[in-house]
Amino acid sequence: MNLRIPGPTPCPDDVLEAMSRQMINHRGPEFAEMLERITAGLKRLFQTEHDVLTLTTSGTGAMEAMVVNMLSPGDRVLGVSIGSFGDRFATIAETYGAEVERLAFDWGTAADPQLVADALEKDPKLTAVLVTHNETSTGVTNDLQALASAIRGVRPDALILVDAISSLGSLPCPVDAWDLDVVATGSQKGWMVPPGLAMCSVSPRGWAAFEQAKMPRFYFDFGKARDFLTKGQTPWTPAVSLFYALDVALERLVAEGIGGIVERHVILGKHTRRGVKALGLELFADEAHASNTVTAVKVPDGVDGGKLNKLMREEYGVVLAGGQGKLAGQIFRIGHLGWANTDELDATFDALRQALPRLGFQLPEAARAR
Ligand SMILES: *Cc1c(COP(=O)(O)O)cnc(C)c1O
Repeated sequence: MNLRIPGPTPCPDDVLEAMSRQMINHRGPEFAEMLERITAGLKRLFQTEHDVLTLTTSGTGAMEAMVVNMLSPGDRVLGVSIGSFGDRFATIAETYGAEVERLAFDWGTAADPQLVADALEKDPKLTAVLVTHNETSTGVTNDLQALASAIRGVRPDALILVDAISSLGSLPCPVDAWDLDVVATGSQKGWMVPPGLAMCSVSPRGWAAFEQAKMPRFYFDFGKARDFLTKGQTPWTPAVSLFYALDVALERLVAEGIGGIVERHVILGKHTRRGVKALGLELFADEAHASNTVTAVKVPDGVDGGKLNKLMREEYGVVLAGGQGKLAGQIFRIGHLGWANTDELDATFDALRQALPRLGFQLPEAARAR
């Protein structure tokens, strides 16, 4: 199967094989050594000098962890959303009693830094901002650097909490240089590791907020995670096999370096957008902010999106992602993050070239001739 969804992404053989290793004592020296190595590798890729915690949970767990460790019930928070994951972040904060001022942008577009600054200007009580770096539901990458500097311009000490789940480890996201406070990613996205781990950095400003934060928390308590990390442990039993996998994947990624990782995704992103357009299909996202980890494509008029994904899977062995929430049936998405290559993308375009006409779509002349 050509698994072309934006997570879980395919894993290299050595990463999968690492997971078949025998268990070790998670409170013993072997695990401590591995955790130390993993944390060092993560710090390099997060480009941070500060703490990086590895939690056994999915990406959403890390979003919840950011909320409960940094905020108190009643806190006024700006929830910047450009799609369904941005909405989820705001909803989690509301669930725990934050008062979220939602600033939503049209799906398919990026957040406007000026409007974010204006919102903060208007309400001095907004002391924290929730923002998505790469909105996987729409295939849009926010200009996080510009957003962070617009936020700092109005509120220098604002707490910036970032869902970088489908960007970190794939797209540029230098956590310290951009002055981001708490930034989370998930193992099943660009990291080439199965689902189940979430990695989260915490700045000194974040730790100061943690000391004040009063939302209820137990499993996700960052303070416990930090204390155990100094002993080379996690507070609770970790998903040991996934740590084995992350250890191997990080060895690859650190050797490749940030420059190589980013360049690889630029190539995959451009290749995908070119291939999609050559088929006469339209991108859903504003191309100026199109993501290099996931491409959202409009389902052409007259074509049934559900049928397209089914046909692609059953007859061509290509697994695409559908649209989420209000985009169900209107778009399909192609994941090109992590262990992906242009051959797999070309196979995807070939399959689309065959499948689309069967569902009534007329390919452009040039695509037909190929
Ligand atoms: C995948 C993803 C999530 C959710 O992660 P889960 O592991 O499914 O909980 C959140 N935000 C973004 C941007 C994502 O891509």
